[in-house]
Amino acid sequence: MTRQLGFDTLQVHAGNKGDPATGARQVPIYQSTAFLFKNAEHAARLFNLQEVGYIYSRLTNPTVSALAERITALEGGAGGICCSSGHAAQIMALFPLMQPGCNIVASTRLYGGTVQQFTNTIRKFGWSAKFVDTESKAAVKRAIDRKTRAIFCESIANPGGYVTDIPALAAIADAAHIPLIVDNTSASPYLCRPIEHGATIVVHSTTKYLTGNGTVTGGAVVDSGRFDWSADDKFPSLSQPEPAYHGLTFHPTLGAMAFTFHSIAIGLRDLGMTMNPQGAHYTLMGIETLSLRMARHVENARKVAAWLEKHPKVEGVTYAGLPSSPYYRRVKKLYPKGAGAIFTVALKGGYDACVKLVDSLELFSHVANLGDARSLIIHSASTTHRQLTDEQREKAGASPNVVRLSIGIEDAGDIIADLDQALAKV
Ligand SMILES: *Cc1c(COP(=O)(O)O)cnc(C)c1O
Repeated sequence: MTRQLGFDTLQVHAGNKGDPATGARQVPIYQSTAFLFKNAEHAARLFNLQEVGYIYSRLTNPTVSALAERITALEGGAGGICCSSGHAAQIMALFPLMQPGCNIVASTRLYGGTVQQFTNTIRKFGWSAKFVDTESKAAVKRAIDRKTRAIFCESIANPGGYVTDIPALAAIADAAHIPLIVDNTSASPYLCRPIEHGATIVVHSTTKYLTGNGTVTGGAVVDSGRFDWSADDKFPSLSQPEPAYHGLTFHPTLGAMAFTFHSIAIGLRDLGMTMNPQGAHYTLMGIETLSLRMARHVENARKVAAWLEKHPKVEGVTYAGLPSSPYYRRVKKLYPKGAGAIFTVALKGGYDACVKLVDSLELFSHVANLGDARSLIIHSASTTHRQLTDEQREKAGASPNVVRLSIGIEDAGDIIADLDQALAKV
């Protein structure tokens, strides 16, 4: 078939043409650390990147590669890798771009753990982040300097119900000749494909919707293959001879696959943030139903958010899928299939009311996770966003009087009934 395959087909078939060794229809779990070389010449060609194949599972593994290929197909990228967690994916995405002394311009509206990683931990590598409100294009432009190597944002930002204007940020990144990196975890490629809106690189916590059943942590990095790393001297790891790989010049030699091969040959080799084949298997099982789940997540979230907005004990609901949201029109344009299923609810009773609600729910699980088939709730201020300052919490949409909901795929009536009985106790 020469047809361009649809999303629903790719989520089931991409990366799996049947197992070449056994004909197994499902992707086998290749639980092997190393792979046999045919002979010394074959081994040398693999190490020289002259031939693509398997050497050692810290670098690549057939089960993990099948998943990477599938996520890459769903995002419409040129190449991709999987790694051990979403946080690993963020480091892996920055690694080929950064040198000590370089910075990124990051949205203030990010997952709490990402704010933490970018505020403190990346400084140990000599990298830094400048946080700006990406609603102000002028502020984003002003923050970019000679040492800036990327803009980083989330498509649908967790937990505040904020949706990013990706084309606007992509235009700023293009003008500055730096890549735009989009964390697409909360939207999933079913709701948003950032590369189609001009992003260079997409990162995922596959822990969430891509797996969809709360079983394994994992991450992915997908590269569009479109960025010209050699246009100037900003990205020497890709444009110039790389001392970490016997002087190979990745971009001139490998073109659109330069970023991906660098991520494997040096990133995974030396940082070792590898996904294991068992983990990849769970995510491959989950991803087969991604579109079906996401459609239900969105349908339920719309119903629950609309119901909550009218409840007398509720001060407000930040769901971009509600007509009352300031981002409603942007959602219609950029995310036509919906605004996801994560949002926050502010309660009139403040901190105490939030704690009472969380403790009174029966169907909802009180956990630090999102994107599960089950409905989840968390009080961000006292948990995931606890280590942040008041100002950072406010900017991230995690004030003390709000709870974050991740709406599952259960019967919408049951989800609402559970909230109803719990709010009655507040
Ligand atoms: C969970 C999450 C992460 C971190 O992913 P892990 O798999 O937990 O490391 C990053 N970004 C977003 C938006 C997330 O929801």
